[in-house]
Amino acid sequence: MNVPFFRPELDETEIAEVVATLRSGWLTTGPRTRAFEEEFARAVGGRHAVALNSCTAALHLATVALDLRPADAVLVPTMTFAATAEVVRYAGAIPILVDCEPDTLNLDFGDAERKLEDLAAGRLPPAVSEAKRPAGMIPVHVGGRMLDVAGLRSFAERHGLWLIEDAAHSFPASWRPGPGAEWLRCGEDTADVSCFSFYANKTITTGEGGMAVTGSEELAERIRSLSLHGLSNDAWGRYTAKGAWDYRIIAPGYKYNLTDIASALGLRQLARAEEMRIARESVATDFAEALADVEEIELPPPAEDRVHSWHLFQIRLHLNRLKIDRDRFLEELRARGIGFSVHWRPLHLHPYWQSFGWRPEHLPVASEVWRRTVSLPIFPAMTGEEREAVVAAVREVCRRFRRRG
Ligand SMILES: *Cc1c(COP(=O)(O)O)cnc(C)c1O
Repeated sequence: MNVPFFRPELDETEIAEVVATLRSGWLTTGPRTRAFEEEFARAVGGRHAVALNSCTAALHLATVALDLRPADAVLVPTMTFAATAEVVRYAGAIPILVDCEPDTLNLDFGDAERKLEDLAAGRLPPAVSEAKRPAGMIPVHVGGRMLDVAGLRSFAERHGLWLIEDAAHSFPASWRPGPGAEWLRCGEDTADVSCFSFYANKTITTGEGGMAVTGSEELAERIRSLSLHGLSNDAWGRYTAKGAWDYRIIAPGYKYNLTDIASALGLRQLARAEEMRIARESVATDFAEALADVEEIELPPPAEDRVHSWHLFQIRLHLNRLKIDRDRFLEELRARGIGFSVHWRPLHLHPYWQSFGWRPEHLPVASEVWRRTVSLPIFPAMTGEEREAVVAAVREVCRRFRRRG
């Protein structure tokens, strides 16, 4: 049996909603996008939401709205996707890469502290040490397991940093300080700006799309204006009855607005988001139970005081208990028809970031753990047979290539 890494599930009402939009005569940003923004803000408990055509656009505009300058330093996890760090370079600012925790793969606060000290002491590679002023940080909730939000906020406050959250994996997700305490949703003022992704294989999708959520009206207005050529905000509804025909350009903006075609899909997906999360959680629970006794792998650690979005289900191989490496392990999965991915080759092991002088020894945990990391298939409509096929393949590869003694 073949199991893909991901299979998007669009139901008939979602398809009908897109068709209705096509027939409505309004294709680009309009009433459905406004409704999507309002309902998304409500879903995450955020004050303002601006729909954009990707999470990368949201991250970019958040840095512009927060006035990121050339040679500013921004703390970015090395264990992330390209987007988190590249947006820092758009402004000519410099990412300070931070190592990860070995089990959750989330940013390690201790190393963030160390990297700021190293920056101040001139101990980072020369091209990185050109960074002048630590301005902000862009943590990622890897796979949908939220970082310690209180720790994040106090770290940012202590160092005078703004906080942009790469929430591409973490909708819907929540955190609480401890048992009995109140839950805080990702986007509920968990950062200055929270950036969500609706890319094709994310937890809800609009094909391509993103959302910037913020508690600050001023940031929201700046992001909204920048997303459409830097036009004054009263130009927003300029094709509608109350819009102004005589707009003003107030900044060199971008073209990052989301279409109503996409938002139509987003609205329907949003309505099913928690149902789909619960379905993914049941896949995660099945995997955790069925693989608990496999000594060649480590499972995701328990997600205490978290509502996990389960965007990813990442296992880590015990290479000392296997006769094969991770790449061969992946080949064996492929041979058994099982899809997979790796999240991620850390940034500092890519040529562009190596050109800044980053070396494995600067980020030892990520350098080691990425070589053992495998993301198994997880998606809401995974059938019982598909779950069993994934489990059987992992068990069989481990048994066959077990190192004895
Ligand atoms: C997918 C992803 C992004 C980018 O999202 P887009 O909507 O494709 O721009 C950013 N960060 C992380 C961690 C991601 O996984």
